[in-house]
Amino acid sequence: VIEMGQPEHSVVTTCAYCGVGCSFKAEMKGDQVVRMVPYKGGEANHGHSCVKGRFAFGYATHKDRIRAPMIRDSIDQPWKEVSWEEAIGFAARRLKEIQAEHGRESIGGITSSRCTNEETYLVQKLIRAGFGNNNTDTCARVCHSPTGYGLKQTLGESAGTQTFDSVMQSDCVLVIGANPTDAHPVFGSLMRRRLREGASLIVADPRHIDLLDTPHLNDSMHLPLRPGTNVALVNALAHVVVTEGLEDKEFIASRCEGDAYSKWRDFISDERHSPEHMEAVTGVAAADIRQAARTYATAGNAAIYYGLGVTEHSQGSTMVMGIANLALATGNIGREGVGVNPLRGQNNVQGSCDMGSFPHELPGYQHVADPVARGRFEAVWGVEIDHEPGLRIPNMFDAAIAGQFRAMYVQGEDIAQSDPNTQHVEQALRALDCLIVQDIFLNETAKFAHVLLPGSTFLEKNGTFTNAERRINRVRKVMPPIAGKEDWEVTVELSNALGYPMNYSHPSEIMDEIASLTPSFKNVSYEKLEQEGSLQWPCNDEHPVGSPIMHVENFPIGDGKAHFAITEFVATTERSSRRYPLLLTTGRILSQYNVGAQTRRTDNQAWHDEDILEVHPHDAEERGIKDGDWLGISSRAGHTVLRALVSERMQPGVVYTTFHHPHSGANVITTDNSDWATNCPEYKVTAVQVEKVTQP
Ligand code: SF4
Repeated sequence: VIEMGQPEHSVVTTCAYCGVGCSFKAEMKGDQVVRMVPYKGGEANHGHSCVKGRFAFGYATHKDRIRAPMIRDSIDQPWKEVSWEEAIGFAARRLKEIQAEHGRESIGGITSSRCTNEETYLVQKLIRAGFGNNNTDTCARVCHSPTGYGLKQTLGESAGTQTFDSVMQSDCVLVIGANPTDAHPVFGSLMRRRLREGASLIVADPRHIDLLDTPHLNDSMHLPLRPGTNVALVNALAHVVVTEGLEDKEFIASRCEGDAYSKWRDFISDERHSPEHMEAVTGVAAADIRQAARTYATAGNAAIYYGLGVTEHSQGSTMVMGIANLALATGNIGREGVGVNPLRGQNNVQGSCDMGSFPHELPGYQHVADPVARGRFEAVWGVEIDHEPGLRIPNMFDAAIAGQFRAMYVQGEDIAQSDPNTQHVEQALRALDCLIVQDIFLNETAKFAHVLLPGSTFLEKNGTFTNAERRINRVRKVMPPIAGKEDWEVTVELSNALGYPMNYSHPSEIMDEIASLTPSFKNVSYEKLEQEGSLQWPCNDEHPVGSPIMHVENFPIGDGKAHFAITEFVATTERSSRRYPLLLTTGRILSQYNVGAQTRRTDNQAWHDEDILEVHPHDAEERGIKDGDWLGISSRAGHTVLRALVSERMQPGVVYTTFHHPHSGANVITTDNSDWATNCPEYKVTAVQVEKVTQP
């Protein structure tokens, strides 16, 4: 402020980092942001913020921003700076040539959870209507796709059930595979406030997280399970609920489908799910599992919050259903203070899924095989939509290596860095005839690209993000796009160049189209967002100003009753062995964000400038490891080098790192294992060997 002077005006907008979706006033002098002030009227944050949203916005004007479109014929040639018209024309020509030679299915695209709802909607529309196939996927594939599947199967809607503020009515908070104080800081602070007021805390996590160190905790438990045993643990918790008569029988009788419940009750009552049987599998003492189940089931209001430690497993979808089972069995759904709450990592994970980015679903989770839903879209889009689901991201990679998939349009996602088994991803990208990357920086994926289209940051565009509580927040442009175009305009021009016309003059018109085709968004418009500040979907005739709490009376599934799912535990094939005796798991740190493309280009870099490997003192002593030593980490997939931190937060046999810095290459060592239902990668369990090495 001292350097830039006093602000002249301010614009309310939404943070583009995590799924909390905090509102900020961008205080401006001309086209420059002087500071970001947390906005008191923001319903997700009520005037609070964290070090990312508050301070880490300087990346928007960083010297590394791509300021002009670029093209090249092959990836070993230098980039050639060209006009927008030439770049888009080049991209469209290559896509048409490839489709003419290799068929309609030979191209596809990936949308981003970093982009707005409107941009995401347009990319999947371009692929379905312009490319003529369903080869669209989103980076949510690698984070919360199991949430989409698991909650749809059990509760009927692929979304969390509560508002963030609901936690203030909770008597017990069960946190599974999440680290809210680092990854969702503003909500983590709110949760802490409730815990200090006396709510019980149960944390199920391989690592000791900061929440457990909250001062003046009334009652807390840590269940330090072995990575990969989530389903065994949640089944054991449910087993205690059922066999000790702690179920909410009235809720089950009135709100849940009877046959499915009977089958599940028989399944979960079996002795093989008992805490005593599961102790050896999970590594958690049977008595602690019993105590945790009793605390959760007998609290007046008990809420579950979970993160990627639940979804990024070979049984991610099963675990999401197991969590829903537990909440249903105890009647903890449909009112304040309870619920099943996925903590979404990126700002618009919820929105990117809502907007039809998945290859099997149109916007609003309407299946492409449903002729009625398809017919609605066909009438508005003026094309026939393929009724067969398209390729998921890992299928695109495999098909590219096999020579069947030849071109890809990637908006706002660095797949070469963020997807597992980097060598495999790079092989696939290298095999493409045409890779079109639309991004704000020359990222790792762009190294394999033929067309580079400059992206715009959240400060340079209009649109909406949907946060983890289904809250649709406005994103407002505060400065002109650095390369002259907002992301949605680029997609429109690419579509027009391909011969599928799109005509919008403002993202509000795109939202109007979304609302006309998506039942849960029926009453959403920019006008209404101005009036209400934000809207939580479903927002329709039944809920004209949105729905803070879901499933109050009915579940949108079958005959309105929730569906218990059978959740058999199947151990991951990624196990420790003599050669790879430790299990690696991963997470985030407060000051950095995901692969760090933005935060590493801000002053936040000073707080955390490298990823390190946390090792339990026992494992460190066995290997002669001390703090700061360089360690070689090898897995079945690859090898990387990190420095050591000897830490009591770990349990013996488990090591941990973050994935914010490209040189550490955490994904060089993660494997191809993935969730059985959704192909979400199993980032959270990798068997590794760790040895001291000399400095790389
Ligand atoms: Fe942004 Fe999340 Fe921090 Fe809020 S909590 S300021 S949304 S990063």
